[in-house]
Amino acid sequence: MLKGKSALVTGSTSGIGLAIARAFAAEGANLTINGFGDKAAIENERAGLEKQFGVKAVYSPADMSKPAEIADMVRTAEKTFGALDILVNNAGIQHVANIEDFPVEKWDAIIAVNLSSSFHTIRAAVPGMKKRQWGRIINIASAHGLVASAQKVAYVSAKHGLVGMTKVVAIECANSSITCNAICPGWVLTPLVQAQIDARAKVSGRPVREEEIALLSEKQPMHQFTKPENIGALAVFLASDAAATITGSAYSVDGGWTAA
Ligand code: NAD
Repeated sequence: MLKGKSALVTGSTSGIGLAIARAFAAEGANLTINGFGDKAAIENERAGLEKQFGVKAVYSPADMSKPAEIADMVRTAEKTFGALDILVNNAGIQHVANIEDFPVEKWDAIIAVNLSSSFHTIRAAVPGMKKRQWGRIINIASAHGLVASAQKVAYVSAKHGLVGMTKVVAIECANSSITCNAICPGWVLTPLVQAQIDARAKVSGRPVREEEIALLSEKQPMHQFTKPENIGALAVFLASDAAATITGSAYSVDGGWTAA
């Protein structure tokens, strides 16, 4: 479905981003992957995408809190593949504390990685997309882009901002065959969420499995994690021609979280 397209997925060394990169590669897209992690494991992943799916994949180590590195990553993707057709803003971090205890440097880091990085990638990618009159921008927001929870002031602020950014970009690009949409997952079992479950188990002294169920049932009518592959499948659909007129939307994949 995406044969010959070039896609960049930020934060694709782990979790949801990795699943999106794999789903795009399975549809024939060439890839720029990005994110932190063990060098050998990342090279393994990059080479694996090429081998398993017969596409070309390159790795950018750009730090999503550094605007100059972000601009360079987008330029390199364009140069390598001759175009950047599909941009997925996925990199994200979390910190949990009441606002009066929230460290200022954690606020700055979360706003930089979870919100400002998307401004920088989109700003750099849109001119090329407009020139070629085709583009797909997919922002991985969260249920926390639509509703709030305690102790997540920076994350909730950044994700609400990202949903707003999605709408602005959609309107500005509406007549350039460029769409911009947000995906708003509920709980997806990835290293980011596993860290939160482990932290809760440490505080409560309860088994990890009990904390998993407690975490789900606090927010989701459906007591089941979304799989990263489910988000990958939706991203493929939004990047396809079938979704040509879907723009400015925020898609909930949240087991009923925001319906309750
Ligand atoms: P994860 O921790 O498994 O992956 C995060 C990725 O971002 C990793 O590849 C990491 O290296 C990368 N990253 C972090 N900081 C970076 C930086 N400064 N520069 C470049 N890369 C950086 O997390 P995940 O659960 O897969 O989350 C992915 C996205 O989905 C995030 O934006 C998150 O907020 C969102 N999300 C996750 C869930 C969930 O339940 N897991 C729910 C809703 C939204």
